[in-house]
Amino acid sequence: MQSIADAFGKVGGTPALEKALAGEEELSYEDGVQLMNEENLFLLGAAADRLRRDLCGNTVTFVASYYLNYTNVCAASCPLCAFYRKGNEEDAYTLSTEQVVARAKIAIEQMGATELHIVGGFHPKLGLEYYENMMRAIKSEHPKVTIKALTPAEVFFIARLTRNSVKEVLLRLKAAGLDALPGGGAEIFHPDTRKKIVIGKCSGEEWLDTARQAHELGIRSNCTMLFGHIEKPEHIVDHVIKIRELHKKTGGFTTFIPLKFSLENTELEQKEMIKSESSSPYDLRVIAVSRLLLGNTLKNISVYWVALGKKISQVALSYGGNDMVGTAFSEEIFKAAGKASGTSLQELASMVREIKREPAQRDTFFNIIQRF
Ligand code: SF4
Repeated sequence: MQSIADAFGKVGGTPALEKALAGEEELSYEDGVQLMNEENLFLLGAAADRLRRDLCGNTVTFVASYYLNYTNVCAASCPLCAFYRKGNEEDAYTLSTEQVVARAKIAIEQMGATELHIVGGFHPKLGLEYYENMMRAIKSEHPKVTIKALTPAEVFFIARLTRNSVKEVLLRLKAAGLDALPGGGAEIFHPDTRKKIVIGKCSGEEWLDTARQAHELGIRSNCTMLFGHIEKPEHIVDHVIKIRELHKKTGGFTTFIPLKFSLENTELEQKEMIKSESSSPYDLRVIAVSRLLLGNTLKNISVYWVALGKKISQVALSYGGNDMVGTAFSEEIFKAAGKASGTSLQELASMVREIKREPAQRDTFFNIIQRF
């Protein structure tokens, strides 16, 4: 056991940080709120970085991932979203099975993607067969590729739309080739924030329950949190603890991805509910507090460079992050909100080398494929 004075000299630190550094007890909700509101950012980062090093070592991973957004048509209309269109809008689109398979072929054969990250809007007219056909068609040509498709929010919507249970939808998709779920749609679970940033999407409890059911069927998933909009620090803490508690029961999350909110072209911007994106110190605080709250329970924390920007992502890897998500070939959702997307494995590797860590390509489930 080491005190803050031992670790960093006589520079102070909250009781919650002392507790985190001692590492003997899990942090409580109150501890998390104290770290969000009161802790010195440098100390917070140093403690999170030490825990990251203890749990994950110096390797920073990423996956060769191709983003396939099968439709931008959405029955919901979330004020946080710049991506969705209504079906009658000129730039609304829905890909056919043939188009999806053609893109998958390019992704796998020409770009070296090992994972297809397939998400879209809540299309009000697509039946379950659309998704089954898509997955079967991909797997028949590319049996080895990992299909990471449909967030818990999409699965919940499809279940409601097609009048199936969530379990039935998951079982049918798994039989068609689904390997894992992406972690989107979680946003912020706390209803005080959630009801203002999403309209027509499942509740936080429904998202968590859908993820739980997926895990129980052997379908692992990512989990996310969208931060940097109108949430309160307590809502961040509440969200991360709910993820931690579910992971304790199922062990089904592969990684936690705190996503920085992108403002451009969203209703939250147009209605001036938010005037600017969150500051980098706040972003780093969220990542560091997430690391300390997740403790020994969930060891992977991904820094999503598309949302955060490449430079702050490099810093965030010293505030608790151990993974960079991936190449994000063809990403459309953050692109709609003005963010550049898509990079190469080599660029990610050199970003990692620049901070004196060890880059490695991983698969969807965090098995190392190659080191650089
Ligand atoms: S965030 Fe998702 S559910 Fe909400 S409007 Fe956008 S695409 Fe639709």
